[in-house]
Amino acid sequence: MENTVSVNGTSHQVKPEYDALIIGAGFSGLRMIHECRQLGLSLKAFEAGPAVGGTCESWVYIMNFSKQLNDEWTWKERFPCQPEFHTRIQSARWNDDTHFWTLETEFGKKHTCKYFIPAGGVLSASRRLPFLGVERFKGEWYQSSYWPRHSVSLKGKRVAVVGNYVIPARNHLLSADQQESIKENYAEIWAEAKNQSFGMSMTDSHTPMSGLSEAKIQRVLEGGWEAGGFRFVFETFGDLISDRQSNDIASEFVRNKIRSVVKDEKTAEKLCPKYGLFAKRPPLGHYYFETFNRANVSLVDARTDPIKEVTEHGLCTESGEQYEFDTIIYAIGFDAGTGSLTSFDINGRNGENLGQKWASHVETYLGMAMTNFPNMFAIAAPQGPFANFPVVLDSQAPWVGKTISYMEKNNYKQVEPTQEAMAGWTKTVNDIYAMTILPEATKDSNSYFIGANVPGKKIEPLFWFGGIVPYFQACEEEVHTGFPNFVKS
Ligand SMILES: Cc1cc2nc3c(=O)[nH]c(=O)nc-3n(C[C@H](O)[C@H](O)[C@H](O)COP(=O)(O)OP(=O)(O)OC[C@H]3O[C@@H](n4cnc5c(N)ncnc54)[C@H](O)[C@@H]3O)c2cc1C
Repeated sequence: MENTVSVNGTSHQVKPEYDALIIGAGFSGLRMIHECRQLGLSLKAFEAGPAVGGTCESWVYIMNFSKQLNDEWTWKERFPCQPEFHTRIQSARWNDDTHFWTLETEFGKKHTCKYFIPAGGVLSASRRLPFLGVERFKGEWYQSSYWPRHSVSLKGKRVAVVGNYVIPARNHLLSADQQESIKENYAEIWAEAKNQSFGMSMTDSHTPMSGLSEAKIQRVLEGGWEAGGFRFVFETFGDLISDRQSNDIASEFVRNKIRSVVKDEKTAEKLCPKYGLFAKRPPLGHYYFETFNRANVSLVDARTDPIKEVTEHGLCTESGEQYEFDTIIYAIGFDAGTGSLTSFDINGRNGENLGQKWASHVETYLGMAMTNFPNMFAIAAPQGPFANFPVVLDSQAPWVGKTISYMEKNNYKQVEPTQEAMAGWTKTVNDIYAMTILPEATKDSNSYFIGANVPGKKIEPLFWFGGIVPYFQACEEEVHTGFPNFVKS
């Protein structure tokens, strides 16, 4: 992949060190390595962590990318490219003379490439701890997003969990029969997931709640609760996210479940979401709420009595209440969607900085490409689908592959979407979001869907909520029509 550069009127052939450089060795990075290998590209991947990543609570078999992998599960043997672990990329810079990207690691080592593929994850950039006096605490403390590799013993300790997200609730090993059945039905499972709006192996209900009898509604919701998790969301009624009244009824159903499970009335009320269901996702039928019936578990509502500071011995709240602990676990979430791309310098054409650009508002085309950031394709990035990500990646990575193939076939040096295409995509993302019950509910709940969990972050929809099928169609349309929304040269 050579380009010609003119220096003082003389032409020189320049070649990047690699065809493609990939950031991240989670599901996205691994899937992209697989794609690039199939295209025969030379590549290198960088991973800040010590090993391959991936955090998911969806059912495990949705994490496999191909039938072959499902049968064998031998990632290392299949991918001769070993990501460089313990290596964080701290900057990426586009060179408009060579038309290559230069990535610099935290150790100051530079690498050049034609195609820059950040796959740093939607939920991987940890939030900074916003509490005063964190270092003052004399006990042990951990952040869920930086969990140590050594085992942590909590036995007999007084433990604070700051934040209340819990996964995977009641995780368990799959039986040999279940594993066998997954292998046997792999194609059907995968096909079902690819056709379900959020990439799950289940069947969307298209039945609206309105017009049904109270008894019927309760029966269906009850069935969904028993099935648990995402089945409650997708297999009960088709309008839980689009219809205010349906959402209110489902939200109240969940609140009543919490009230019936949690014995202490005050604790139950604190646990009941005040906002519309799905703006955040309380564990649905996962035995999470039962934990609050234990004599050694109590709940402090930090919304009504926020944490003022961390003390030597624990936490102090605004009301002056002092709580003593041996261990504090901070589980305060992520700078979602944009965080992994804005936490280091990405400088495109004319030094345009992605982080600064997105501070005013996010704009992408198809959630993968940006004007002024040529040959950069972000996987699992903002304005891409909010769905089961391995399913999304399994279409985004081939799309990137097809785009690269198209470029190589036509000898293009650079490709980037038009400003109009980005503006159009952004408008569609926002319009679809506005059609749901989410705008109000996500504000009420400080949801990461709109960046509301990070103080100072621009509030805007960070994901495509239009379902994966229309999304995949839009991506394929671009390929089949010869990339009309891209400037190619
Ligand atoms: C608690 C929790 C539950 C989740 N449940 C689900 C679920 O049920 N279903 C689902 O689809 N998704 C779920 N997710 C989202 C999940 O993170 C992604 O689906 C999945 O991990 C995507 O893989 P990824 O490769 O895109 O990101 P990640 O697995 O986050 O991998 C990205 C990798 O990039 C590395 N990286 C980032 N920046 C740099 C850099 N500058 N230099 C070098 N390396 C870098 C990170 O260290 C990380 O290992 C969940 C996330 C969390 C936190």
